[in-house]
Amino acid sequence: MSGSTNAFEMAQAQFDHVADQLGLDEQVREILRWPAREFIIRIPVRMDDGKIKVFQGFRVQHNDARGPNKGGIRFHPAETVDTVRALAMWMTWKCAVADIPLGGGKGGIIVDPATLSNGEKERLVRAYIRILVRNVGPRQDVPAPDVGTTAQMMGWMMDEYSRLVGQYTPGAITGKPLGGGGSQGRTEATGYGVIYCVREAMKHLGIDPKTTTAAVQGFGNVAQYASIGFIEQLGGKVICVSCWDRNDKTAYTFTKAEGIDPRFLKGITDQYGTIDKEKAKAAGYAIEDGGAWISKKVDVLIPAALEGQINGDTVKLINSAVKIIAEGANGPTTPEADVVINQRGIFLIPDFLCNSGGVTCSYFESVQNDQNFYWTKDEVLVKLDHTMTQAFDSVLGMSLDKKVVMRDAAYMVAIAKVVKAMELRGWI
Ligand code: GLU
Repeated sequence: MSGSTNAFEMAQAQFDHVADQLGLDEQVREILRWPAREFIIRIPVRMDDGKIKVFQGFRVQHNDARGPNKGGIRFHPAETVDTVRALAMWMTWKCAVADIPLGGGKGGIIVDPATLSNGEKERLVRAYIRILVRNVGPRQDVPAPDVGTTAQMMGWMMDEYSRLVGQYTPGAITGKPLGGGGSQGRTEATGYGVIYCVREAMKHLGIDPKTTTAAVQGFGNVAQYASIGFIEQLGGKVICVSCWDRNDKTAYTFTKAEGIDPRFLKGITDQYGTIDKEKAKAAGYAIEDGGAWISKKVDVLIPAALEGQINGDTVKLINSAVKIIAEGANGPTTPEADVVINQRGIFLIPDFLCNSGGVTCSYFESVQNDQNFYWTKDEVLVKLDHTMTQAFDSVLGMSLDKKVVMRDAAYMVAIAKVVKAMELRGWI
């Protein structure tokens, strides 16, 4: 398998590997190996100093056979079209595995959000929507939050879209704030969804969750609620989380052997995911190197930061005690590292199954928007658990039936659904 950490090459390598096993038709592969549409845009924004700055942005639509393209928009200084392509492709598989009637898309802007004022952020996301207004929308492509973007930004984008089309159109964007067209449970959904999958994996492996420990990479939205869920829902212990420190431009791991308190840490984390080191130290946390999380002696590793984190080098550091890897992030494991993980018999819950709780809740949000009738948090979380447990079961069933690892099984489930929709629509 390729040793590449280019996310799009990774996504294609994973797809090719399963397409070979399935003996998938060459022409069908040609359709699915590449996004259907790609927009590379330049976005002029009036900055607070009065000058115009031009940002580069992307929106990639991979496949809409099963429904409108769906996927987040990232703000990241190292964003590339290839990363967005990979993420769009993974969204197609994610929606198919979760069995929600949506396709795959993703957006990105090359920018460090911490360098923008609130006004600049608002002007940037509104301009993004103005440029793409004919190519996004509730029946075409529905953006949502991802790394570096927030519910408030979604609210601005929805407003801009609604003004441009002359109608209140909340379903054009999901992940909106509560009271502004958002859904209960959307903030927690991705992290809690990771934990529903971990719970099902432990059931399958015969592990008592109350005796288990976890190490988490990242402390953004997904990592925060995965940590909270691991402790509050499973009764396990999280011994560390890591975060990117935007002041020091480096990553740190925050460790407490007796168990971290994610709600406390969340309270001392800024809006960009940087934990206050002084306050953490005063509360008894050891502050270690950013890479320290991966070598911890724990039962579960939860990479919930960025892509390519478990690679040919770092995979060697995984402790022999680790039984489950739950991919909260998109694409955290390279194909080269996958080979080692599979050889070692670690049960890996692949990204587009494991983190599908976010988009599933986004789907619920758009359904509520269409009905103009909103559900309680309990209703949302019960539906989310049900959808994710079913998705997990279908992938586990495929894995046992075909004697393949969970990632390949997830691809098999997803590809079959997308190919079927393409057939039914007469595309192939
Ligand atoms: N950005 C999230 C993801 O990667 C959520 C996408 C959505 O809600 O559309 O799954």
